Amino acid sequence: MSTNIIAIVGRPNVGKSTLFNRLVGRRQAIMDNESGVTRDRSYGHGDWTGKYYTVIDTGGYVHGSDDIFEGEINKQVELAIKEADVILFMVDVEAGLTGLDEEFANVLRRSDKPIYVVANKADTNARAHQMGEFYALGLGIDIFPISSQSGSGTGELLDEVVKHFKTEGTEDPDAGIPRLAVLGRPNVGKSSFVNMLLGVERNIVTDIAGTTRDAIDSRYNAFGKEFIIVDTAGLRRKSKVSEDIEFYSVMRSVRALEDADVCIVMLDATRGIESQDVNIISLAEKNRKGIVILVNKWDLVEKETNTTKEFEEKILEAIAPIKYVPIIFTSVVTKQRVHKAVETAMEVYEQKTRKISTSKLNDKILPDIERYPPPSVKGKFIKIKYVTQLPTHNPTFAFFCNLPQYVKEPYTRYLENSIRKHFGFEGVPIKVLFKKK
Ligand code: GDP
Ligand code: GDP
Repeated sequence: MSTNIIAIVGRPNVGKSTLFNRLVGRRQAIMDNESGVTRDRSYGHGDWTGKYYTVIDTGGYVHGSDDIFEGEINKQVELAIKEADVILFMVDVEAGLTGLDEEFANVLRRSDKPIYVVANKADTNARAHQMGEFYALGLGIDIFPISSQSGSGTGELLDEVVKHFKTEGTEDPDAGIPRLAVLGRPNVGKSSFVNMLLGVERNIVTDIAGTTRDAIDSRYNAFGKEFIIVDTAGLRRKSKVSEDIEFYSVMRSVRALEDADVCIVMLDATRGIESQDVNIISLAEKNRKGIVILVNKWDLVEKETNTTKEFEEKILEAIAPIKYVPIIFTSVVTKQRVHKAVETAMEVYEQKTRKISTSKLNDKILPDIERYPPPSVKGKFIKIKYVTQLPTHNPTFAFFCNLPQYVKEPYTRYLENSIRKHFGFEGVPIKVLFKKK
């Protein structure tokens, strides 16, 4: 990765995600006073004076100071030491120096990476002066008092940090990498699926995600494909989370959907397709996302000759008129077709980004129009002259004709089917428009 990596390390509640949000430039994380609960992003991108970086908030999996284990500190810090170009060790001037800070410092001392101690919550001058006590840690190149909340001091800090960068960095190292969202009702097997992918091969950001469970946007390299899984936060174990957090997690699923290129919608084979599943699929279509349906826990279904076919038919019936979605029968437990699921999601992504030349389109579609022209309306004949794919983000086809307002829904569907028949676009919603010519 040709990116500069800044890691933020520190005990819970010192303000790591607040600083993270500031460094990535937009409000990505949902804040919650319960520390360590919500991590909308474990990594994001930003820039300072034209130098691009990736920032990692390593704090996602340290859940509250009571049950914090030395092993977890080690893991968090080791990741930072291994992957980062610069480490920001965050402490809290309001709370002062704590034993936990010292534990972090002890592990950090093993690193030869540049470390800055960031004395956060220095909202006032008086507070800023309290940073003095952190010199006792004997750690870091320097101590910077900042207020993540107001942003004061962060500019000075970044001025120093960027001096350690070896490259200019890239604006968005994730550009062009497919973003997949794994969606579905609780218990269908989403986290088992994602964890299985983690077990294959991974790279830096994935490592973080693997330990953080709560993190969103993890980069994967599985079965030779590179992709990002958006919103693994929906995957967090449902333990003693409050309703508030449940609400956020629903919101996050919707946002993950909006943020993804392809939605992998998981169903439970033992339950069949339910109305919530249909809702997710139509939401994905409305947002013009690629869609792949996984019927998971297929190992639990007793199979006869036509079981798969019947299952498929039931799904198609439930999601009608959507017909173009690939359906794959998986078992995460026996690893059946999991590889195929990833491959299909990647194919859907490719289809979604495809551009068909106007001449190819017309060669195939015009004969279909000739064979079955639009029915006349009030004695008027609709004449379609040609079709072209618009240079839009999602596949959109414009048909130029004399009376665009007269073309009816069934004919639109006929043209869509014709496009799909000749060019595929499996799993991808396409739009058909009529324009006056
Ligand atoms: P994390 O657990 O280390 O990621 O900490 P958070 O970013 O979740 O922040 C913990 C709490 O400290 C939140 O209530 C924040 O609003 C608060 N906080 C973060 N930065 C500042 C700051 O600069 N000043 C003050 N007064 N509070 C802050
Ligand atoms: P999530 O809530 O959607 O993330 O679901 P989980 O991944 O936590 O899975 C819920 C339960 O279903 C766990 O006990 C899994 O072991 C189990 N499970 C997941 N996938 C399969 C599968 O393919 N077959 C079977 N038999 N069980 C599965």
